[in-house]
Amino acid sequence: IPRERIRNFSIIAHIDHGKSTLADRILEQTKSVPLREMENQILDDMDLEREHGITIKARAVTLVYTAKDGLDYIFNLIDTPGHVDFNYEVSRSLAACEGAVLVVDATQGIEAQTLANTYLAADAGLEILPVINKIDLPSANPDRVKKEIEDVIGIPAQDAPCVSAKTGLNIRDVMEQIVHLVPPPQGDAGAPLQALIFDSYYDSYRGAVAHVRLKNGTVHTGDVIHMMATGCDFTVVECGYMRATSFEPTGVLQAGDVGYITASIKEVKDARVGDTITLRDRPAEKSLPGYRAAQPMVFCGIYPADGAKYPDLRDALEKLQLNDAALSFEPETSVALGFGFRCGFLGLLHLEVVQERLEREYHLDLITTAPSVVYEITLTDGTAKHIDNPTNYPDPSTIAEAKEPIADAHIYAPSEYVGNIMELCQDRRGVFQNMQYIDTDRVDIHYRLPLNEIVYDFFDALKSHTRGYASFDYELAGYEKSRLVKLDILINGEPVDALSFIIHEDKAYARARKMVEKLRDKIPRQLFEIPIQACIGGRIIARETVKALRKDVLAKCYGGDISRKKKLLEKQKEGKRRMRKVGSVELPQDAFLSVLKLD
Ligand code: GDP
Ligand code: MG
Repeated sequence: IPRERIRNFSIIAHIDHGKSTLADRILEQTKSVPLREMENQILDDMDLEREHGITIKARAVTLVYTAKDGLDYIFNLIDTPGHVDFNYEVSRSLAACEGAVLVVDATQGIEAQTLANTYLAADAGLEILPVINKIDLPSANPDRVKKEIEDVIGIPAQDAPCVSAKTGLNIRDVMEQIVHLVPPPQGDAGAPLQALIFDSYYDSYRGAVAHVRLKNGTVHTGDVIHMMATGCDFTVVECGYMRATSFEPTGVLQAGDVGYITASIKEVKDARVGDTITLRDRPAEKSLPGYRAAQPMVFCGIYPADGAKYPDLRDALEKLQLNDAALSFEPETSVALGFGFRCGFLGLLHLEVVQERLEREYHLDLITTAPSVVYEITLTDGTAKHIDNPTNYPDPSTIAEAKEPIADAHIYAPSEYVGNIMELCQDRRGVFQNMQYIDTDRVDIHYRLPLNEIVYDFFDALKSHTRGYASFDYELAGYEKSRLVKLDILINGEPVDALSFIIHEDKAYARARKMVEKLRDKIPRQLFEIPIQACIGGRIIARETVKALRKDVLAKCYGGDISRKKKLLEKQKEGKRRMRKVGSVELPQDAFLSVLKLD
């Protein structure tokens, strides 16, 4: 099949608008998957992704579509992660394409990530093909959504196919538009090799597998390749196309192709997303634009609940990192929690995904400390510091200036919730920027919000303030000067390092109050009285006491109900298992999370 009949495209959408379902229909229509292997949502192949309803890693498949003109076309469908934490990976995936199918739910209209993803696609210079999905639903309003696309995004949408990815209605129209509207790839197969790595993952047989888009040049099995950002050389073991359920080695890839390269690369770190592959003996002059190393934005401590599992935790993190170059970790020790790791993540979702995988795939019982963003501190002697761990926050008297990361946030919601949303954002130290109507009853509210106000529970709070109707997207917009303090918690007179956190001065008192109250409720009564104190730089600003108690939990059950007694005993056992000793006090595991959810 000649180059002119290659179509490289992505599907972009807000979460739940039907991207994965549409991808499944396209796989079906191209008979890429034998029916017995056809499972829902082939492209999301991890359980976790299914549960979170998002695509975490970009993937690509090569399909052959026989169009109405009777000719065969190669479709390279490049899947993108659907969440803001992975925006960089989204933008690399889009850089591998010439077109983007923009799926919009006919019952919902444009949402925050619809727009965020569309901007990324437009930045990459892609042809954008709107598709209206879920028209089988009674509440679908395709005309309204078309008008929204024209008004808000500013691209024509009258000819957008109206489809049901669920029933398969009008899917062929989408395929035909891809054939006719997405331009074929440009590029010179005779020029020096420039191949963009837009995804990579670890395979226990092949090592790191790089998913690549060749912009120029040709690569063969046996060639010595050179990674332009990391500087490493490797010999190509295999290259070819990724089919829906298998590798198809071809021995050669050339300009315009999307495929895979394996080269006995031991770690994903050596085949980084965004890097350019060239040939060692005939290198390209320049790498493709846009490479940057993944920048962790959110940090937290991860500790094994059982200290003896520390080596297991280290092994598990090393294994996860093989496949996730954005995950960083280094050993740390906590007085309260013992030996663990300080881990860096792209965002809160990334953190949750890693935590869940550690627990589920590696059967580890974990204690995670409150997530922290990275603060920029200038000391009075002029030295600059990046602080990602409250424990390392310098003494207030030595700080000349403190800066915190600020996010540019867009919230999309029905206009009836504007009041609630503004109240929430104001409470989170947001600075209102502007508000635009998307249509008569939906708005786009633009705020600048400190990142540390977002990383705890902003998503949850936003949902509860809007009954789930709002969508949200943000990007980092630099650092701003701020009045920050470190809040320490003392239990029975001992500081618990894992409970310290950094907070804006104005919010410290209220937070301290809530926290000591929460801890008072979380800490089971013990044989002696336990004072709980919150302090800033040695000054106590809140205090509560856990009263001493008799030890027999069964004393509460008067007589009879034996099953209730059993339950209580079991509960007590479970609680013990997850206890941490801090000085002389037993702290339940979830006390460490109590800093997060206070509202
Ligand atoms: P993604 O998050 O964009 O990948 O969305 P999914 O493909 O996972 O779809 C989200 C939900 O919408 C799933 O429950 C789908 O079954 C459902 N869905 C997708 N397309 C349609 C459609 O055309 N009609 C209806 N009724 N439901 C759909
Ligand atoms: Mg999906």
